[in-house]
Amino acid sequence: MLRRDFIRTSAALAAAAALPGCGQIGMGDYSGDLTMDWRPYTGQLKYSFTIATYSRTFTPLVLVRLRWRDFVGYGEASMPQYLGESTDSVTAFLGRVSSEVLPRFKDPFLMDDILSEVDALAERNTAAKAAVDIALHDLVGKILARPWWQIWGYDATKTPCTSYTIGYDESDDVVNEKIEEASWTKVVKVKLGMGEEKDKRMINLIRAKLDTVICVDANQGWKSKEEALDMIYWLSERNVSFIEQPMAKEKIDDAAWITERSPLPVIADEACQRMTDIPRLAGAYDGINIKLMKCTGMREAHKMADMASGLGMEVMLGCMTETSVAVSAAAQLSPAAKWADLDGNILLSNDCFSGMRLTDGKITLNSLPGIGVEPVKPFEEL
Ligand code: MG
Repeated sequence: MLRRDFIRTSAALAAAAALPGCGQIGMGDYSGDLTMDWRPYTGQLKYSFTIATYSRTFTPLVLVRLRWRDFVGYGEASMPQYLGESTDSVTAFLGRVSSEVLPRFKDPFLMDDILSEVDALAERNTAAKAAVDIALHDLVGKILARPWWQIWGYDATKTPCTSYTIGYDESDDVVNEKIEEASWTKVVKVKLGMGEEKDKRMINLIRAKLDTVICVDANQGWKSKEEALDMIYWLSERNVSFIEQPMAKEKIDDAAWITERSPLPVIADEACQRMTDIPRLAGAYDGINIKLMKCTGMREAHKMADMASGLGMEVMLGCMTETSVAVSAAAQLSPAAKWADLDGNILLSNDCFSGMRLTDGKITLNSLPGIGVEPVKPFEEL
């Protein structure tokens, strides 16, 4: 290293070390107790959220704080009802992590071992696992005094624009209000799968006011492969970029039939939960939608992005309705994604963290260590 580079690096590390909860430690000196606490939190939605299968006005969340020496990492579980998790199931799982896994580890850098043991505690509980995973990544990034996009070797300028979701509503006035609110975005995401007439009404209402790119999520709502392909052709003439989960997740042969004939890329969402799902989806879909709450967190999400690109599949990053904690954690991986749907925090009226921001719709990563978030007030008061 040239002397001037060394001085610059040392100055950067010293500056990072001056940040609260962040700094450098001596080589080989990694022993300390890992302790975790958590707080249930209700994410209030600005609008009721309606997709092909249900409607809701809030999302239960659990915020997690993981501590090691003077370092603090934040994590989050988001529990939309279709995931099958609740505040009770998440807090029970976190209790087990706290009593059965964390006491056996003194070194937070043993991430693979720690998170493998957390994963082995139960078959499902993916959102609860994600909360621990995100908090551990945040903690380790802060010890290293580096953000995860940099640890992973990504260029923070190569982030996609996020789409912003316009949910279905029976009222034209409400849809028009949502369209008005989406006028800043470069990419609109629309939830379809309600039936041909309703689906076309939503697209026509948006196209009457916005000429931005639209991506479509059918949420398994189209009933036959022929119906799906007809809609995809109709959509392809209306500046639509891709189609997410056209039919039921189990219908892989139908997905392959559609993908082979579709003029637009077809992406698996509900069909792709974890890494082990990807090999059988290669060939049936053009890409996968990776979400931290489905796949247990950043560790597996990063592996899934590598596996998908190795199989020639496109990567999309998605989210649930979440605060800036989980959205900023996912955003660390966004330079590896072609498309991003990381609008969960802006769909909330009570986000309680600051983190990743949008600049004209483009994901803008900060240089804070870990996942780059800070609570708006002390954790105990959230
Ligand atoms: Mg989806």
